[in-house]
Amino acid sequence: MEPSMNNNTENLHQRKVKLQRDKGIQKANLIASGFQFIKTFYTLLRKVPQTDEEAKKIMRAYMEEVLHGIFFFGSIHAIPVKPEEFFPDGHHEDFKNIFPEPFEKYNTHLPVRTPYSVLLVLVVKIKSTGNMNEILQLLTETNTFLQKPSPTDNTVWNSNDYCFDSTVVSQSYFKDPQTDKGSEMFWGASLACKGKVEREILIYISCIKAWNKAVAYAVHYAQTGRAIKFPNYVYSEAFRSGRRNNSPYESIPPCLKCVSLFHNIRFIPQSEEEHHAAWPYGNCAEAESFSKLLNTLSNVLDDVKAVINGAEEPFTQEMIDFVANCQKSAAQKLKSRKFLLTEDWHFFGCCTG
Ligand SMILES: [Zn+2]
Repeated sequence: MEPSMNNNTENLHQRKVKLQRDKGIQKANLIASGFQFIKTFYTLLRKVPQTDEEAKKIMRAYMEEVLHGIFFFGSIHAIPVKPEEFFPDGHHEDFKNIFPEPFEKYNTHLPVRTPYSVLLVLVVKIKSTGNMNEILQLLTETNTFLQKPSPTDNTVWNSNDYCFDSTVVSQSYFKDPQTDKGSEMFWGASLACKGKVEREILIYISCIKAWNKAVAYAVHYAQTGRAIKFPNYVYSEAFRSGRRNNSPYESIPPCLKCVSLFHNIRFIPQSEEEHHAAWPYGNCAEAESFSKLLNTLSNVLDDVKAVINGAEEPFTQEMIDFVANCQKSAAQKLKSRKFLLTEDWHFFGCCTG
């Protein structure tokens, strides 16, 4: 064998070893992040006063949704992780006895949102007065626990290693010009999952199921220059977590992708030309926040317009012809990750609010 070929073979071998090692590290991070999330969420859940049976049922549904989401992302990972692998010895049996469904449905049912989106719902519920600063404060405290493997461990993970984290959250509301009264705030989180394929799958699923169809329309047709236009007086403010510097959330302008998708929103602060988005359309917290707003405020939804080639027309149900395409694309990606997709597309925990 020629020396150069020897070198090439050696290089190839080293690259393979490195790739295997990187994948091993990714898997270890996924497992540690998943367990840390489960522990943190469970602790947070126990702080909620469970006054009656209905409240208990809702809290249980949140825990099940979080477990299912983490197991789902484990199962579609490049090196799949089984549900029991997320728990230290024996603990999975305890959880399985109390919450059997996520253990049974993680590879047949799809999540409708990320575990972090469920956590955000819970935090907003706990801070029931809707005070923005209190919500951000509790999120900051919770993020610290998510990133700390144990209370006695002083190492805080590198943010890039954490797999279920949302860097940005946002809130939106409508202010009635007649009464000057603001609606409740609708909170959303940026997509919290690692991996390009995982992110794409989640955006397709969101277009099919989770988002309001007007938002899904804007995201789906973004590449063709289409958009949606909101009626006047819808406000939006996004916040980036300061966890990298151990500081609180800071208010940030929208990215240019959100500005191009969602017309006539009063962003606080306004957009900045240089706030370029390196992430895919639909990745931002605004998509979830606006979806909740439109799902709740029918008067706003009724006035949403589709913007096609610069011209406005009322947004109608006929415009949601993209769902079949999303299903086709999602199915391909899910099958490539060995997900057992059934013909009638089962979703997990989509009625919890
Ligand atoms: Zn954005």
